[in-house]
Amino acid sequence: MATMQGVRLPGNSTVEHVTAEVPEPGPGQVLLRMRASSICGSDIRAIYREHLGHGAEAYQGVIAGHEPCGEIVGVGPGARRLGVGDRVVVYHIAGCGMCDECRRGYAVGCRSSFRAAHGWQRDGGHADYLLAEEVSCLLLPEALTFVDGALVSCGFGTAYEGLLRAEVSGRDRLLVTGLGPVGLATAMLGREMGATTVIGLDPSVERVRLAERLGLVDVAVSDPDTLADAVTESTGGLGCEVAIDCSGNASAREAALRHTRTWGRCVFVGEGGTVTFAVSDLLIHKQIRLHGSWVTSVLHMEQLLEHLVRWELHPEAIVTHRFRLDQADEAYRVADAGESGKVCIVWED
Ligand SMILES: [Zn+2]
Ligand SMILES: [Zn+2]
Repeated sequence: MATMQGVRLPGNSTVEHVTAEVPEPGPGQVLLRMRASSICGSDIRAIYREHLGHGAEAYQGVIAGHEPCGEIVGVGPGARRLGVGDRVVVYHIAGCGMCDECRRGYAVGCRSSFRAAHGWQRDGGHADYLLAEEVSCLLLPEALTFVDGALVSCGFGTAYEGLLRAEVSGRDRLLVTGLGPVGLATAMLGREMGATTVIGLDPSVERVRLAERLGLVDVAVSDPDTLADAVTESTGGLGCEVAIDCSGNASAREAALRHTRTWGRCVFVGEGGTVTFAVSDLLIHKQIRLHGSWVTSVLHMEQLLEHLVRWELHPEAIVTHRFRLDQADEAYRVADAGESGKVCIVWED
């Protein structure tokens, strides 16, 4: 029996290396040789530090990693479209395929007992091989790298969806609160979708500098008190037509609403926590449209892959740290520190 190396996250900020059988693809399934598997903020928040999740975020002791990208090395009986050698991104949640949310393409919102997310309830991408449903796989365009693909499979997809929800266009100035990987992705894609000015906020000076160095923001600040000045200066005191919170932090969410222009759109993408704000002042009287947005749909992910090629954008630009699978411990430590760009596990050959 062929075996592979994999990583589990037992909690308590630890990483456990395991040896597992290389799975056999059944009907409707494909086997991927993993090439890139990035770490998401959710992995840190709900699994690595401690197992916090319930429902969709309940971690069931499986091989971790829900941002997988690789190459198909085996297909189960009755494959419909994909074959050995195809490079694929995995939409990381397999749903029942039959409920309203699955029909919409948002398997992330599937509530059936068949729903299973890679790295949460079924084995994920932190292993040499990954078993995936063929319908969850999207062809990775030639022009994109495996690391690009891994970043699309959750983070960039999530950022893109938030921007779609806000209908960002060339009429808009964009505020991004939280410049972790999803915030950096939002800034990068938001500018390409037309935002004429991009303003960022993150308490980490390193992350502010990274966003500036990558040219993703026109101005970024680490001190919330200086954000008002930055927004005023960039928008003539009007506020941003669109604000997207990618932090999940209460004061950053409040700041996103506060600096959204009257009649503007605000999207909460950052997960967890709570928020308190003056509803009349910040929402009702400003006629603001406030959205929640969770991951993305399979179709939007596929469209994003196509757009990235046309836009000549490489998500991997925001990767600051690459590790081998046997260095997963260090990879998680770096990601948990909250000062880096994206952290990615890669397989070189
Ligand atoms: Zn994620
Ligand atoms: Zn479903």
